[in-house]
Amino acid sequence: MLNYQEKITKTFELVVNSKFLVAFTGAGVSTESGIPDFRSKNGLWSRFRVVTLQEFLFDKEARKEFWRMRKELIGQLIKATPNKAHLCLAELEKMGFLKYIITQNIDRLHQLAGSQRVVELHGNNQEAHCLNCKKKYSIDDIYERLIKNEEDITCYLCKGIIKPKIVFFGEAMPQKEMSFAIEIANKCDLMFVIGSSLQVEPAASIPRIAYHSGAKLIFINKTETEWDFMAEVLFHDSAGKVMTDLLDMIKSSLR
Ligand code: NAD
Repeated sequence: MLNYQEKITKTFELVVNSKFLVAFTGAGVSTESGIPDFRSKNGLWSRFRVVTLQEFLFDKEARKEFWRMRKELIGQLIKATPNKAHLCLAELEKMGFLKYIITQNIDRLHQLAGSQRVVELHGNNQEAHCLNCKKKYSIDDIYERLIKNEEDITCYLCKGIIKPKIVFFGEAMPQKEMSFAIEIANKCDLMFVIGSSLQVEPAASIPRIAYHSGAKLIFINKTETEWDFMAEVLFHDSAGKVMTDLLDMIKSSLR
């Protein structure tokens, strides 16, 4: 078994020799920015339940539960800034090593860190619209209403349901993004899999597609996943630490 430093060295060699490196990220890449993930000990699912799209559309009480969870999450998203892992990934893209990030996250922190080529599989937290009259609402607008203790956020114009531009459990994936992610997964020869429990399908199939098409996978996750056996290099460490150590090694090799 390799020790931590040997794993960094092996990852460094894989990265500098790669032809098409892609990163697949989940909520764990953003916990060091103060945004809770879903499945860790203090994650959102320890306090809230999953509200499916069907419930959101047809059950007012479920919608209120969704907005209670959202109130907490948006509060953290609004003040969050990119952490070391986001910044290192952005730098790897600038240096020409990283071709794309495929993210399950809705927080836009990859883009804020400077990453240009980001595929958002689950939408983003910035936008929302009325399902009836299509009026658009900004996240600031919605948050203001949530902190004034509005429980069910409806349209000012027609009282329709306002839905954030995120993919709900039970909702189809955005076709364009999903097809492109599959294309990239098939094409890459190396993939970082960072901060994801790999339990949310079909997003979690992306690393499997890369693996089955012959890519090598580097897992960076604090805890075990049932897919750890696919990893060429397996880190059970924080994403910020591993990415910083890796980038330091890459930079010193270029000096
Ligand atoms: P998850 O909560 O199921 O799993 C997160 C994983 O990250 C866990 O296995 C945990 O051990 C690991 N982790 C936590 N902190 C870490 C760190 N600092 N370094 C390395 N690993 C760390 O998240 P998921 O697999 O992304 O699936 C949950 C869904 O939740 C996604 O679809 C996503 O859209 C959504 N979500 C997004 C955000 C966000 O945008 N920041 C936050 C919460 C949930």
